Amino acid sequence: MMEQNDFKNGQTTIQFYAGLKTIGGTIFEITYKNERLIADFGIVFQNNLLKGVQLRPQHVISDLKQLGVLPSIPNLFRSDELTGDTTIAISHLHLDHIGLLQYVHPDIPIIMSEESKALYGHLHAIGEESVDVDRQVKSVPFHQPIQVSAHIQVEFFPVNHDAPGTSAIRITTPDTTIVYTGDVRLHGDDVETANLPNVAGSPDILIIETTNVQADFLDKNPVIQSEADELIPALLKIDSTSIVFNIYHRNVRRLEILIEAARQKGKIIVFEPETAYLVQAYNMEASHVRYLLDDSNVSNQIHAIEPITVEELNSDFSQVWLQSSYHQMMTLLDLPVKGATYVHSNGVPLGSFDPMYEGLLEWVDKLGMGFVVLGVSGHASAAQIKWLADAMQAKVTIPLHGFTPELLQGPNQTFLPQTGVIYPISTLLKEIGPSSK
Ligand SMILES: [Zn+2]
Repeated sequence: MMEQNDFKNGQTTIQFYAGLKTIGGTIFEITYKNERLIADFGIVFQNNLLKGVQLRPQHVISDLKQLGVLPSIPNLFRSDELTGDTTIAISHLHLDHIGLLQYVHPDIPIIMSEESKALYGHLHAIGEESVDVDRQVKSVPFHQPIQVSAHIQVEFFPVNHDAPGTSAIRITTPDTTIVYTGDVRLHGDDVETANLPNVAGSPDILIIETTNVQADFLDKNPVIQSEADELIPALLKIDSTSIVFNIYHRNVRRLEILIEAARQKGKIIVFEPETAYLVQAYNMEASHVRYLLDDSNVSNQIHAIEPITVEELNSDFSQVWLQSSYHQMMTLLDLPVKGATYVHSNGVPLGSFDPMYEGLLEWVDKLGMGFVVLGVSGHASAAQIKWLADAMQAKVTIPLHGFTPELLQGPNQTFLPQTGVIYPISTLLKEIGPSSK
């Protein structure tokens, strides 16, 4: 492996810190001279070493680096001295793309789309994110090149995914152009993703997600027009009088779908205060929407939605669809949920790979509820990813953010990077033989 200094005088380099052979935690770095752009800063899910172990406040950064939770990137974290010129660009607000931002030095600018910044502000207000939005987060309009340092330019493009503001990012340096797709979905009405090749196509390097590029899914190419078309009819078909559901906060569109389905079914829909705060922030309040009253600070900030108490819920439970996050399951002990259906709608725990999933199934069983999984993947199918890679026509395609990225072949060269290796752009563009495919 060559040292970083060898490239200082001339050319762009890329280095991957996380996101290879996994669907958790994407981080990579592009450097030119003493300028750096870091793209995404995600947490790797399920670090068993941290379960039940207390963090040492004075040593958080160094401890987490030693455990491999934080990438060993110099001059970047709270406890570091800063040198050079660094920017972090964020594709979207899922935890596997932003989960480590809280450890970053407050003087390093974090850029994201305008819609992402708005959502970040709301998540900050309900205590789910901690970076000082006004001080450190800067928004970037779509389709507008922004100079982040003397030689590095970025441009954000809208793509479709299950979080508002999701972006693909084009990074331009004096010797190369790189497009990073972030996470993408390609339903029938996902015109932004479908348009990406037209507005950002033909880069030198394409870095593309491969979440659904897995052997078991290669032949599955479900035709989905939209999340609403898929989920509303399925929700209306559930025949139990009440529904208890989970959701993932960052999927704002899913909230709208649940509210609409409840309206069509003639039910009152009840959210936890944090979720109701988002319903209010996105102006989705309606006469059949309530929030479950508690004495939290968040409850105090909800004005546009009527509260409901546990006692009121109890007396009228057959009229209700109720949100219940996994960490709030105890609340259900006070309610007549027996016979209700628990709808798992892409909330936490996300899937059977999470040990908490077993716990969720035990809770549902204990409470005498039925269980259905009613979600929609936020990711394009394997065939759609292949289509997108082909349409982007990059000289080199780098698949990542998937368990089996090697199953994707780009239209020209395809390259599977390793973590901890610095790749000079000339190596990627000229010296990759067919054998490294
Ligand atoms: Zn995502």
